[in-house]
Amino acid sequence: MNATAPANPIRPTIPLDAPGKHHGFLKLPWSRNDSAWGAVMIPLTVVVNGTGPTALLTGANHGDEYEGPVALQALAHELDPARVNGRVIIVPYMNLPAFRAGARVSPIDGGNLNRAFPGAPDGSVTQKIAHYFNDVLVPMADLVVDFHSGGKTLDFLPFACAHYLDDARQQAACVAAVTAFNAPYTLMLREIDAVGMYDTAVESQGKVFVTTELGGGGSLSARSARIARRGLRNVLIHAGILTGTAEHADSVLLDMPDDDCYHIAPAAGLLEPLVDLGERVSDGAPLARIWPADRSGEAPAVIHAQRDGVLAARHFPGLIQLGDCLAVVAVQA
Ligand code: ZN
Repeated sequence: MNATAPANPIRPTIPLDAPGKHHGFLKLPWSRNDSAWGAVMIPLTVVVNGTGPTALLTGANHGDEYEGPVALQALAHELDPARVNGRVIIVPYMNLPAFRAGARVSPIDGGNLNRAFPGAPDGSVTQKIAHYFNDVLVPMADLVVDFHSGGKTLDFLPFACAHYLDDARQQAACVAAVTAFNAPYTLMLREIDAVGMYDTAVESQGKVFVTTELGGGGSLSARSARIARRGLRNVLIHAGILTGTAEHADSVLLDMPDDDCYHIAPAAGLLEPLVDLGERVSDGAPLARIWPADRSGEAPAVIHAQRDGVLAARHFPGLIQLGDCLAVVAVQA
């Protein structure tokens, strides 16, 4: 940071390096009509013991994705510092205003936190959160785990994923951590819109990064919550931060070799899925129909698979808009 750059106003209410377990907040001043000197109080738990690596763990980067918040609340409540070697920084509700609103983006400024990086210390509330993570918390971390799910508009096969990176050693370390997470599916992910993502910011700082898509539809299931809790424990054991034995089950390896994996709705209307998550599709097979939303008696638009593969994600609501992501077909590796 140069001498003239404004400082980020966020302050932790607990020490980030004190031995033991501390619960507090990231306090972000937010002056507004109903609280002139008020603040956004983002819950924070820090567990420190020994001299091992640091893990930074986040949920609700998008506010309507719930597996990560559940796993992180459970970890913050249950984690015994004696079982830790290193430091665990837990932020279950990274974009707290969005989480409290049950929405993907912040109701304060419309900010999509996962498109706001590297953020700005003098920007909007969402930009300040992004900047604090980018400039303060991520540099402290060796391992970063950021939980996602589909939110209200997408549903996913439960997978942990890594990205293709220019640095082969960093990519290998990320793949090893994602593999250790041991979700039912393990994916090499090609982002549709990588600019401004937390993922990109973390990876550009050379960190080991694990992200997930564990379900969706704006809720969670007993199974998807179990996958999140188990994967989190596994990856902390893999990093040498948590003692214990990792649980292992078979995981299906998936790849997204090019942009043809994404299927975009060519029309708006009423969605009729023809394939469910996890089902195999062949190139040219019908994936879905979109019926007109404003009249009867007309033929639907039919969307065909652009490649052989497995349906890894799909549009969740019954109504779809022109340009929505309708389906993602991944390739079994
Ligand atoms: Zn998300």
